[in-house]
Amino acid sequence: MPLPVDTSEAHALALDAHDPLAGFRARFHLPPGTIYMLGNSLGLVSLDAEASILHALDDWKRLGVDGWSDADPPWFRLAETIGQSACALVGALPGEVVATGTTTVNVHSLLATFYRPGGRRTRILADELNFPSDLYAIQGHLRMRGLDPAEHLVLARSTDGRTLDEARIIDLMTDEIALVHLPSVLYRSGQLLDVERLAAAAAGHGIPLSLDCCHSAGTVPHRLHDWNVDCAMWCGYKYLNAGPGSTAFLFVHQKHWAQKPLLSGWFGFVKARQFEMLPEFDHERSAGGWQISSPGILGAAALEGALRITLEAGVDRIREKSIALTEYLIGLVDALVPGAREGASVRIGSPRDPARRGGHVSLECGPSARRVFDSLRAHGIAVDFRPPDVIRVAPAALYNTFHEVWVVAMALAQAVASAS
Ligand SMILES: *Cc1c(COP(=O)(O)O)cnc(C)c1O
Repeated sequence: MPLPVDTSEAHALALDAHDPLAGFRARFHLPPGTIYMLGNSLGLVSLDAEASILHALDDWKRLGVDGWSDADPPWFRLAETIGQSACALVGALPGEVVATGTTTVNVHSLLATFYRPGGRRTRILADELNFPSDLYAIQGHLRMRGLDPAEHLVLARSTDGRTLDEARIIDLMTDEIALVHLPSVLYRSGQLLDVERLAAAAAGHGIPLSLDCCHSAGTVPHRLHDWNVDCAMWCGYKYLNAGPGSTAFLFVHQKHWAQKPLLSGWFGFVKARQFEMLPEFDHERSAGGWQISSPGILGAAALEGALRITLEAGVDRIREKSIALTEYLIGLVDALVPGAREGASVRIGSPRDPARRGGHVSLECGPSARRVFDSLRAHGIAVDFRPPDVIRVAPAALYNTFHEVWVVAMALAQAVASAS
């Protein structure tokens, strides 16, 4: 049993006083009058990201089309430049990451290359708890090949509706599976999957693994290269704070660079010869080869500043604080909400083991969930509601405080008492 948490406000303030990342909060624009715990949905804008957007805008004003070559950094290589700085976040080698497209587009682009049905291997293994857009993309790819998703999409089932069991997923890696596509962190419960184990099992069965890191990038360290993940994608707007619909990322393991990108476009062409405008597609041997179109410079520009902050804080320190914040939240809910520890009132829907949890905590609030949510909103607490009864709370290490977590837990206890 963990020690009961100190529920005093003084303790919350003391935790903030000893927080080595506390200074980063001042580099964000915080919505006025709000405790913002939605960094898993849309991260906040930093002064750094704002400055990098304005800088790109200024380059456009001054340079016009010459910005492709003369902007700082040149737009022509911006996707690769930003991808390069993101490597440290996900444990990738230089060239394995590029900033491009959006998450679902990148799922499509990577499936086009990595889903190669043949012989008995025609099925895609995914899970029933993944974000629906990923499943829609997979269904489209199966249909494009004339395959019925009802038969060829194999979904790993959850026994509790919240979490997945890696062993059960591995059991489904048969010789009929052509590709495995999984999230690193489940968007509802926040469960962090054991990617290293899943990747090793997939490799052992000769099945490529495609990994959606939307809910882990920027808050959990990864070792995509060493784990032998074949390809991956993640958005820039959750824990990476690059703005609504910002440019996303795509990872292709070095061992696959010779493969042909099949959703091909001219920005994936061999960089040094792109402007020879040849009719035959020849791709750059790096993740950059999987780009399709000209990068959206203004959207990608936000990533520059946003990534700078994340790298300065360091993803290991971010993870450490993130765990401290979510542990504190769970401890306070257990202590302050009668019945929570037994799951009788509010139930912690995320794994209680921090090593199995991403950056947010899912609170299952039963039949009065909607009223609890409305009451939190009325107190200026921004969290999200996932029907029928889940409230997700994401304290972001870069801009949330322990004191804010304390306020949220107090408000939750009060809301639960008055809603039931
Ligand atoms: C956030 C998220 C998406 C969002 O997809 P977009 O294409 O950016 O709209 C997709 N998949 C997962 C797992 C996500 O968490």
